[in-house]
Amino acid sequence: MDKLLEVNDLTKRYTQGNMLARITLTAVDHVSFYIKPAEIFTLAGESGCGKTTTAKIVLGFEEITTGSIYHNGKPHTHKERAWLTDGVQAIFQDPFSTFNPLRTVESYFHETVQNFRLASSKQEAIDRIDQKLRLVGLSYQEFAGKYPNEFSGGQLQRISIARALVTDPKLIIADEPVSMVDASLRMSIVNLFKQLRDELGVSILYITHDLATAYYVSDRIAIMFRGNIVEMGTVEQVLMNPKHPYSKLLRESIPQADPQKRWDTVVTLAEFEQDEYLRQGCKFAGRCPAVMDICKSVVPADLQVDGVLVKCHLYSENAGIPVSATQTVAG
Ligand code: SF4
Repeated sequence: MDKLLEVNDLTKRYTQGNMLARITLTAVDHVSFYIKPAEIFTLAGESGCGKTTTAKIVLGFEEITTGSIYHNGKPHTHKERAWLTDGVQAIFQDPFSTFNPLRTVESYFHETVQNFRLASSKQEAIDRIDQKLRLVGLSYQEFAGKYPNEFSGGQLQRISIARALVTDPKLIIADEPVSMVDASLRMSIVNLFKQLRDELGVSILYITHDLATAYYVSDRIAIMFRGNIVEMGTVEQVLMNPKHPYSKLLRESIPQADPQKRWDTVVTLAEFEQDEYLRQGCKFAGRCPAVMDICKSVVPADLQVDGVLVKCHLYSENAGIPVSATQTVAG
């Protein structure tokens, strides 16, 4: 099995406070996953679960504390530019902050074409830009000379995607790409991701708190909670038949998991809680309806249950096999 991106045992710790009261928070805690070519893999969870920190580390914006990342079999260099020249691009949450309001949007595209030496003449550059814009339902003619404020949020996010495509990336890291887009346009953006996967073979690391779009667009999904992946498998396995109590809670917060009908549903749970990050044992123990004594002192192992990774003591007795003793999870 080819792995385009492989994240192994990734940990990121931050130290907060002063000399007298210093605490260390583990924002990402021994996280491992991989992405195959032409696959949409989602990291999902509430605010403060560690998904965006993971994305920033993958993009080289944050240093790794421990662990390793491989891209195309080569070790991650931790340098942002190295990623950009090696077939990885990013799309961020707020399309308006992606572009300077005083610059035409078109200038960003020409700059990228120039930096990556992708055309030998202005017309060749325009043709390339137009081709990428057409993939997202726009054209060079309708965007030339315009400034960011002349577009809607949805149009500008499409333009961000087209810009990411200018370099023909093999992997796009999309961090909450639809959360600031009008509800009525969200589906068109996630449909674009499917189209890029199916027609161009692009892989996407989709970071979201919105389980409805995650269900609609993902091949596989990992649910994160306070820095840990607590469940990982195919999207059908994890969202239609969740095993971890936290995944069940998330699933129940969507009244109907048919995104074609309820795609505007956004799951928003509790905000960042430092206590949960610092908790011994299972970090979900304070909220878990199935909590046991062991959960309060012993960190659950990653277990393989029916082909799904589950981090929960409920499965440690009979059903679960330690993931370290198996080859892959839902691969
Ligand atoms: Fe709940 Fe215990 Fe499983 Fe944590 S390990 S999710 S507290 S049952």
